[in-house]
Amino acid sequence: MSTKQEIGFSVEAIRRDFPILSETMRGKPLVYLDSAATSLKPQAVIDAEVEYLTKISANIHRGVYELSERATLMYDRARETIKAFLGVREDGEVVFTKSATEASNIISRSWGLKFVGADDEIVVSELEHHANIIPWQEVAKSTGATLRFVPLSADGSFDLEAVESVLSNRTRAVAITGMSNVTGFCPPIKEIVAAAHAAGAVVIVDGAQLVSHAPVDVAALDVDFLTFSGHKMCGPTGIGVLYGKRDLLNAMDPFLYGGDMIVRVKKDRATYKEAPDKFESGTPNISGAIGLGAAIDYLSSIGMDAIHEHEESLLRYARERLLDVSEVELIGAGDSGMAAGGIVSFTFGDIHSHDIGAILDSEGVAVRTGMHCAHPFMRFLGVNGTTRASFYLYNTRSDVDQLVRALDRVRETFA
Ligand code: PMP
Repeated sequence: MSTKQEIGFSVEAIRRDFPILSETMRGKPLVYLDSAATSLKPQAVIDAEVEYLTKISANIHRGVYELSERATLMYDRARETIKAFLGVREDGEVVFTKSATEASNIISRSWGLKFVGADDEIVVSELEHHANIIPWQEVAKSTGATLRFVPLSADGSFDLEAVESVLSNRTRAVAITGMSNVTGFCPPIKEIVAAAHAAGAVVIVDGAQLVSHAPVDVAALDVDFLTFSGHKMCGPTGIGVLYGKRDLLNAMDPFLYGGDMIVRVKKDRATYKEAPDKFESGTPNISGAIGLGAAIDYLSSIGMDAIHEHEESLLRYARERLLDVSEVELIGAGDSGMAAGGIVSFTFGDIHSHDIGAILDSEGVAVRTGMHCAHPFMRFLGVNGTTRASFYLYNTRSDVDQLVRALDRVRETFA
């Protein structure tokens, strides 16, 4: 098991912060290797939500009474926490959404449908999660714009030159992931943003995996939009974030219309507030936002650099151990030399990933199996799904050992 000295923080102490890790699964200690789908939640996040629900409960931005004012304060504080965490410099650039998926749809519909034209091109990659590809397919369908795909290397990675090869003066948007949810591959975002800007394009980064696992500074990266979900970073489900440059957000039309986003309403028309309110119509997920603020405080107290380092070390160990299993073929773990987060995908002989997942489950090991909401990428890789183990701050080398031991059961079962 990793020690404090090796990785800069004590995993044993971290594990005590996550109540679910003391539960057993099918009579065995839980080995949770599915944080790329959703992370476990620490007590601090559970407490923050419970505090709002038990002691506050009131709506925000509406009441003039004490409880409502306290709710507003907590909600606004969560936004400030996110702002500091991402290095956001301006007010009005952090919008609460229900998920990364919703954030992506807000960008594609409110920005894409308004600013992309029939002669324009939208650059995406085949390794995108469906949440960052289908919304752009829909924009292309509605506007007549063309989708261009970044050419991928055999292991599913791509570099700056690959992106440059599809950029032109017709490129209006570049929508790419910050970290692949299938392979953990991290494209060189900063360089891609600079190249896309030079071509006159707006850059949308799907940060659903990246933001939870590595430090991100939006000002340093100069991204135009960034999307992510709270539940993949120790926060609650039902809360996500859309970061957008202020001018871009204010030039967009609202996504949902209703209460709390208006300046004035007449019988036949209304005027709208600026971002973020313009995109937060109706009662938001108040406890979710507060929980996400608490999750970010929790992660920041450990340090995103330290978390990233820990995951990289687990990833190296997992690759080593899995390469020793003769039936295992690692997917997308080639020698591209590109950065990668704590995700490892593999196939095991010709056994279907769902069968593998079920046997691993009987050993208390939770992994994701199947297509990972990335059908085009699976087709590119020529596989009918993979088994994916993903790591977070609470995972240990012993979790990896358990995974490898459980794979012996797969071999025995299919012998
Ligand atoms: N993008 C990536 C890379 C993801 O991994 C996910 C979640 N699997 C999403 C987008 C969508 O996130 P959510 O389901 O929380 O909206």
